[in-house]
Amino acid sequence: MSFSSKVKEELTAKPPKSRHCKLAMLAGLSGEYESADLSKDCCRRAFIKGAFLAAGSVSDPDKSYHFEISANTREYAQFLASVIKKCGVEAKVSRRKENFIVYLKDGDGIADMLNIMEAHVAMMDIENVRIVKEVRNSVNRQVNCDIANTRKTIGAAQRQIDSINYIKEHAGLDTLSAELAEMAEVRLENPDAPLHELGQMLTVPIGKSGVNHRLAKLCEIAGDLKGRESKPCETKED
Ligand SMILES: [Zn+2]
Repeated sequence: MSFSSKVKEELTAKPPKSRHCKLAMLAGLSGEYESADLSKDCCRRAFIKGAFLAAGSVSDPDKSYHFEISANTREYAQFLASVIKKCGVEAKVSRRKENFIVYLKDGDGIADMLNIMEAHVAMMDIENVRIVKEVRNSVNRQVNCDIANTRKTIGAAQRQIDSINYIKEHAGLDTLSAELAEMAEVRLENPDAPLHELGQMLTVPIGKSGVNHRLAKLCEIAGDLKGRESKPCETKED
């Protein structure tokens, strides 16, 4: 069943009880609004309900946010929009072929419309979909961020290891100062370790920035050995 049908089913299951509301709903159903008494809030809601049942639709919130009621004249469309506005929601009016439509395209407004029409089950549906969407988006953002950080860290570590291996093959690690040689060994043995952990593995433990500095130096030396302009490689993590 479409979301529209669900909403309409819910609306028809609860017809208005008082006579004034029944008359207002009939006016909405028939589009004969000129003589309708819409001075009461309950009657305005009943009128909108009738108009929606007769010529309205609302898209499945899983797919998109679109609510509309079609009207055969601009006057009726504007009247309908003004009734909706009195209930606290700003709807837009637009021409579509021979008809006019009163429509909404935002989730908040549509949830409010369903609330005004007292389609509470449908309103909860739309709210749930919105919550699920929000949570999904936020989890997605976090995951993407984690992946990007991991890639960055792995990329930096790989460049350090490449540099160290280059030094090892072309000059030998024994050409390095004792501090740098140890740093190089520790990095080779622990390709996945974060910088602060590498620092703790040294004979004289150092902090993250110290490790960063030594690794950058190793990359620089490799760059010099390669005979090209020494370009310190990125060693930063997170
Ligand atoms: Zn009423």
